[in-house]
Amino acid sequence: MKTKCSTLILLLVQLAAAQRNFSVGTAAATPGQKTTGYIEVPAGSDAGMHIPVVVVGGVRPGPTLAIVSGAHGTEYASIIAVEKLIATLDPQQVSGTVILVPLVNQASFEQKVPHLNPIDGKSMNRYYPGNPSGTQTERASLALTREVVEKCDHLIDLHGGDLDENLRPYSYWAPTGKAAQDRTSRDMALAFGLDTIIISRDRPTDINASRYLETTASLRGKASITAEAGRSGRVDTDDLMRLVNGCLGVMRYLKMLPGDAQFVEHPVWIDHVESLTSEQTGIFYPEVDRGVYVEKGAKVGYVTDYTGNTLLEAHAPASGVVLYVCSVPSMTKNATIANIGVIASAPPQ
Ligand SMILES: [Zn+2]
Repeated sequence: MKTKCSTLILLLVQLAAAQRNFSVGTAAATPGQKTTGYIEVPAGSDAGMHIPVVVVGGVRPGPTLAIVSGAHGTEYASIIAVEKLIATLDPQQVSGTVILVPLVNQASFEQKVPHLNPIDGKSMNRYYPGNPSGTQTERASLALTREVVEKCDHLIDLHGGDLDENLRPYSYWAPTGKAAQDRTSRDMALAFGLDTIIISRDRPTDINASRYLETTASLRGKASITAEAGRSGRVDTDDLMRLVNGCLGVMRYLKMLPGDAQFVEHPVWIDHVESLTSEQTGIFYPEVDRGVYVEKGAKVGYVTDYTGNTLLEAHAPASGVVLYVCSVPSMTKNATIANIGVIASAPPQ
């Protein structure tokens, strides 16, 4: 009798654990486990790939947060930030579940190619929600939509300045028009802690053409943000820890970690961004640094031909903050020289 009873209890315990079993790709975690696996992207018109993923199953119930980086595989600080989170998150401390995807664009990382997936020449943050018969980027986007976006309640997409971008850290808050969701995503941006927040009102509204990962989650009713830190191929400690501590701050806000969330006080809200692009191919010489304030018309830098003749002077299209400026001499026609963030006259309500 005793044996039968203990067998029954064991079965019930296993059943309860199985019910709380959470899986993403091949990574399955019950409460208290941290497991590693991959999200399979099947081969199609080009090669398939395996996107690494870690699932942290918290011992207490709570929301599911996805943290994704490396859509641009040479934005290194964001990738290393997720590596640090993988190492440090303790399931015993966590309420809910954390999905960690540290490196979406492996070919970019391995071949040191900025902005694009060198397999198909596409940005891996422009083709969501994906397409099963498209190229690798589109198939990977579909796999991430199904395995990560649809399984989470909230998402943080981490980026940074790429190899050629001298960027000051900032977050994006992209309101959807749904008041409760927008309050939560705004609080997530404040809890992340970066002191400059871009209000992004020009995101797609078609759920079948969401383009960006964060927009894919937001259009599915999941309050989400994008955050950027890092620049020019460097992994500076302050940028790295801004991203790590930002994710931990959002987890506290969502009650997934003990402790109170600290909201950044008086952030600089950016009403919109004006891009300055080059009309010529040549050698770029910057004359401003990231983060400085420029008046409309101020000289940002200049471009010469390969024998030193000035082809153009670049002037700020608006007054605002230099969010990033090109950090290398290579300049091509239509490439970005700088992004200027125009400061909002009042915080968003
Ligand atoms: Zn990026």
